[in-house]
Amino acid sequence: MEFLNNNIIFNTIDNGIIILDENLNIKAWNKWLEVKTAVKASEIVNHNICEKFSYIDKKKLIRKVKSVLITKSSSFFSVEPHEYLIKIQSNSIMGKVFKYMRQDVTLVPYDLEKRLVCLYIYDHTKLHETSERLKKLNEELKELSSKDPLTQLYNRRYFTEAANTMQSLSIRNNHHISIIILDVDNFKNINDTYGHSIGDKVIVSLSRILENNCRKSDIVARFGGEEFVILLYNTSLAFAQSVAENIRQNVQDYFVEVKEEKFSFTLSLGVAQFDAQIDKDIESTINRADKALYNAKESGKNKVIVDL
Ligand code: GH3
Ligand code: MG
Ligand code: MG
Repeated sequence: MEFLNNNIIFNTIDNGIIILDENLNIKAWNKWLEVKTAVKASEIVNHNICEKFSYIDKKKLIRKVKSVLITKSSSFFSVEPHEYLIKIQSNSIMGKVFKYMRQDVTLVPYDLEKRLVCLYIYDHTKLHETSERLKKLNEELKELSSKDPLTQLYNRRYFTEAANTMQSLSIRNNHHISIIILDVDNFKNINDTYGHSIGDKVIVSLSRILENNCRKSDIVARFGGEEFVILLYNTSLAFAQSVAENIRQNVQDYFVEVKEEKFSFTLSLGVAQFDAQIDKDIESTINRADKALYNAKESGKNKVIVDL
């Protein structure tokens, strides 16, 4: 391998090159690796790569080297879980997302007679950083498109999607699902009397009351205007009714403060439980809860009506 160690291409190329024999002894180690690892070729050539770098999965690498020699074709070497073959500190200027250089490694047959393979190590840190950033950005975008900006509760679109998923889950696990729909009574009066921004304040305060009355496993969403919907997972109709009654009571006892003045408001609520016998999907449970809400409005407001 002496000729390789003095070869110009071998020593100027912008990625790591290692020549290995089938027992994983290093036969050549290029300049790029010398610079990045501070290990000289003279110190490492003829040593076993796994003795020098004990974190390398020896069995996996031997298997791969053999298969490259047998198939006489190049192959990608997966470097999970470290995401590197040779540990090198990352010196990325794009902000340190990764402590160590992310590497992609390809093995190619080098000398079939001497049973040697060549490993190319590419620095793909920047690529990985970019895709990591994109992933984060996508998550943020998804969060934005699923939340209502005024209340930070989920929006109708997200709720419908999540409710369908949870309905399938509930059938599989034999869990109950209940739905509460609620609407502020005479909200138009609040807007007309105190102005739209106080109306908004009522909507935000109500959102916090709803969250305080629900568990993490429930989904609270703003359905539109001053109408909200709650999906209670693993919850029977009777329990959902008591949650709805608590919400009604909490809201009735709550005061909205406007300068020197304060006022209270009330809610009407409809409750229904998903029943596979009558509901073809969760939409139909939501419709039944909505009818119960309508009945609550018709029969005097500030009350909970359950669809039995
Ligand atoms: P009911 O007891 O029958 O529900 O009567 P209501 O006055 O609450 O119902 P109605 O549907 O007549 O009025 C709802 C009002 O809510 C109309 C709309 O202008 C107002 N609204 C909808 N979205 C918002 C919002 O984001 N902020 C504010 N301040 N008002 C809103
Ligand atoms: Mg209303
Ligand atoms: Mg309404």
